[in-house]
Amino acid sequence: MAKSIGIDLGTTNSVTGIKKAHLEIIKNREGELLTPSCVTVKKKKKLLKLGTMEEYIVGRNALEWIKQDPANTITAVKRLMGRNLDDPEIKKMITNMNCPYRISAHSKGTVNSLAVVLGGKEHTPEQISAKILEKMKSDAENALGDEVVFAVITVPAYFNDKQKHATRTAAALSGLKVRRLLPEPTAAAISFGVDTIGQDDAKTVLVFDFGGGTFDLSVLTISGGQFIEQGKGGNMWLGGEDIDNTIMDFVLGETAREYGIDDMDALIANQDEQSRNLFWGELKSAVEQAKIRLSDDQETYIEILAILKDGDGDRIDIDVELTRKRFEEIIAPIVDATVTLTRKLLADIHFTPDLIDKVLLVGGSSRIPAVITAIENEFGKQKVLLHERPMLAIAEGAAILSHRLSDTYECPHCGKSVSQSDPTCDECGFDLEGYIISESVFDIVHAAAHDYYIYLENNERYLLIEKNTPLPCEKTEPFKLVHADQRLVHMKFFNIVNETEESIGDLWLGIDENETHPEGSVHMEVTLKIDENNLVEVAAGLKELPHVELTKTLSRGKADEKLFISLENLINTANRKGYDIYTIEDLTSRALSVITDIQNVIDKQTDDVNESVYKSTEMKIDKAAKLAEKNITSKPLICYAQDALNNFGPMIKDRRKAVIRKRIEKLKKMDACGTYAENVKALEALDTTLDSIGWVNALMMIKKAGECCEEHEPARAAKFFNALETIGRGHVNAEVDRVTSTLEEVLPQVQEILDQYDTKTGTIHKDIRR
Ligand code: AMP
Repeated sequence: MAKSIGIDLGTTNSVTGIKKAHLEIIKNREGELLTPSCVTVKKKKKLLKLGTMEEYIVGRNALEWIKQDPANTITAVKRLMGRNLDDPEIKKMITNMNCPYRISAHSKGTVNSLAVVLGGKEHTPEQISAKILEKMKSDAENALGDEVVFAVITVPAYFNDKQKHATRTAAALSGLKVRRLLPEPTAAAISFGVDTIGQDDAKTVLVFDFGGGTFDLSVLTISGGQFIEQGKGGNMWLGGEDIDNTIMDFVLGETAREYGIDDMDALIANQDEQSRNLFWGELKSAVEQAKIRLSDDQETYIEILAILKDGDGDRIDIDVELTRKRFEEIIAPIVDATVTLTRKLLADIHFTPDLIDKVLLVGGSSRIPAVITAIENEFGKQKVLLHERPMLAIAEGAAILSHRLSDTYECPHCGKSVSQSDPTCDECGFDLEGYIISESVFDIVHAAAHDYYIYLENNERYLLIEKNTPLPCEKTEPFKLVHADQRLVHMKFFNIVNETEESIGDLWLGIDENETHPEGSVHMEVTLKIDENNLVEVAAGLKELPHVELTKTLSRGKADEKLFISLENLINTANRKGYDIYTIEDLTSRALSVITDIQNVIDKQTDDVNESVYKSTEMKIDKAAKLAEKNITSKPLICYAQDALNNFGPMIKDRRKAVIRKRIEKLKKMDACGTYAENVKALEALDTTLDSIGWVNALMMIKKAGECCEEHEPARAAKFFNALETIGRGHVNAEVDRVTSTLEEVLPQVQEILDQYDTKTGTIHKDIRR
């Protein structure tokens, strides 16, 4: 029977658990409970073939390799999941000397992707995480002697939708099917609550999960096997590694003082590459070990000998004493930050410390005595408990939920396979329902991890769903289009995470030109739906035009997002530069067609990118941008040519008319699907032919002036239409003088009218308002 496991995919370590009759943490092939979340790539010669291939090493063996080859070894890939190069934290990481591997834009990716270069090859964070998950899956299969297919994987409570989606992608790449992405603090609460809180008890627990890379907080009420998330908080960029960095700064500062070195960073930077890499690797592990020792001891020493040399070649040895007292002083800002964030969460959800029954400390960094004392001071000593197995708690919670979510499981009494819906075991009559309520998780009520907003006009934010709303949830709100004759509607959705805005996706609606718009405003409804996995679906529809509606799952695609951003930039540029009305109309209809195409870029079933649609859409946007920038529009020229044929056909020679018709057809085709160059060529060809119809062009201008006057100055219109009639008659009767004098009289006024009215600029409206 395919097994269902729980995986704590940690920043520092990963752990696998399974619940059968009993809960069990599965040892990896190295015989350890914790697998370092570390991946290294080695180049290996292909057997019997030329060239090399990559060999991936994961876990302890990779971690041991870090000192030899830091540039091709990655730890803490979780910090990169679902992030892009523009992210300030990623920028910080790249400039940080503790990040020896190369992070760059993915050559085939979008602005929202990044790549880690290992073994000379680009890897997405998802691909690296998948390597860790592959090892967890394969080691579990090895230990269980059975295939593992399903998993509950834990994620920080603070993960946004993109990061969760990246985690799902990593699981899919590793061959695992995800039953649920479970917030880490909820997992810890499950592992704690299941054997501690009785069936009739109701307890509110604050989970304080301070790990290697993240700090997660969650308040849960546990009652009768139900876990209700009341609120989440924390900081996904705060963890034991920050403490390590603080100690490193201290150690380097002390050493600089001892040796009288002005610029320690420069001294390290000047070491040869091998010594430099070795030094950083040694320092990293020495400070971490010192920190861990200080959880038990009152003082410790950090020693790194015979690696660094100064400009004269003299040894610079690191030999620094760190007492617990000094350690607590230097990490005080970090400890204070955890307390402040805890207070903030309680305030956000309108709780006070006395409403918290227990504070559960999990994660390696919660073992630091100063952290424990700070939390005891907040809540009272008797309420605070360190999870008995702090490093394993999260995997245990995941395993318990994975067991609960699997279709079948083994009867704890006789071991026979029973179904989740069986109240009792067919074989031995064991009370399965009672067992699940008392010994397991009955149900989890998740809560929204963030505030969900939509943009209104003038970049105003509108809150759709508030953080900590119980999931699943759905909210429908009415909005209006900014303009009644607006043909594009752009809805931008975003979260606020750690006080910064994070886009979660866009929804665009297009309204066809021939749609009949009722007078006045156009109303719309926007619905935002979040399921228990925090997957977000949005729907929007126009009230007056009910067939203009769309539903979309956000944060799914990357390629479609990139195209939407290009389209948005294109429209913003057009609005900023104030293009003429013809260019604006042309751009609007191109945008409508692009929107329809973008909606087909991501396959709705498989989530894959349809490369040919992607490429052709990218080309369309590129062409639209170039045409708009150069003020090249085909449709007005096509209309002009058709108008000339319809109105003044008898004045044009038959052979020339045939050429014009042919070139109109060619331009129509190139306008719709030709490249930019083909489009321009076809346009120039028609333009040249039209140049040769001589004074018909003058007549067209007079007609246009007449039409402009009809719209703006009706009293002057008759003059131009009379002139057209006179010229027409003159042409039929071959009265050349009459034609010439009428033209000479009217043309200066034509120019004046066209200059005045025919150079309007336009704006592409796409916003919404309340
Ligand atoms: P986790 O992400 O929960 O596995 O936590 C790993 C982090 O906890 C790393 O930064 C470790 O250095 C840190 N850690 C583990 N044990 C201890 C300890 N006894 N005292 C202080 N920090 C620890």
